[in-house]
Amino acid sequence: MRLLIMGPQGVGKGTQAALLSKHFGIPAISTGDIFRYNIRNETELGKRVKAYTDKGELVPDELTNSIVKDRLGQEDAKNGWILDGYPRNVSQVRALDDMLAELGTPLSYAVALEAERTILMSRMSKRAEQEGRADDTPEAIAKRLATYEQETAPLLDLYESRGQLIVVNGVGEIDAISSKIIQQLN
Ligand code: AMP
Repeated sequence: MRLLIMGPQGVGKGTQAALLSKHFGIPAISTGDIFRYNIRNETELGKRVKAYTDKGELVPDELTNSIVKDRLGQEDAKNGWILDGYPRNVSQVRALDDMLAELGTPLSYAVALEAERTILMSRMSKRAEQEGRADDTPEAIAKRLATYEQETAPLLDLYESRGQLIVVNGVGEIDAISSKIIQQLN
């Protein structure tokens, strides 16, 4: 199974990606987590991306694409994967299409989680209190949601036109949502 998990910030992509990862026995790959890990450990990559992530701006495509390409080529990704937080714009979709063509492993589905904006805002401010993420300031949150609306949301139409989109309501009990996703994938 090769999946994208899509939807706005705060909709629960990371939570669902972790459950699907366990269910299918495939890695959940989050570009946001990769960036945060590198920032925390002050790696060269971390130093290059920190200014973007702190402001809630997208990291340049070239850099993001090369990280994903490298990750998908690793041994544990041979039997499938779940990509969380990538692709986020049309140019990343093209880059992913090229990577998958090269690897000879087509995408199975794009799973889109949905929730109303008020729910997303309240979930994110709660997470800001609990985790203290540098990009959970009100300015950065607003910026990330705006970027999502402008650049990422249109990608759902694109995957729908390819017959690869599954839409699931992201509000409700965590296990019930994951069961619904798995049911639709089957
Ligand atoms: P996330 O945890 O997915 O919200 O990602 C946190 C931050 O990492 C984002 O606000 C971006 O700055 C950066 N980031 C994560 N994924 C991508 C991506 N696919 N393209 C560009 N930047 C990204």
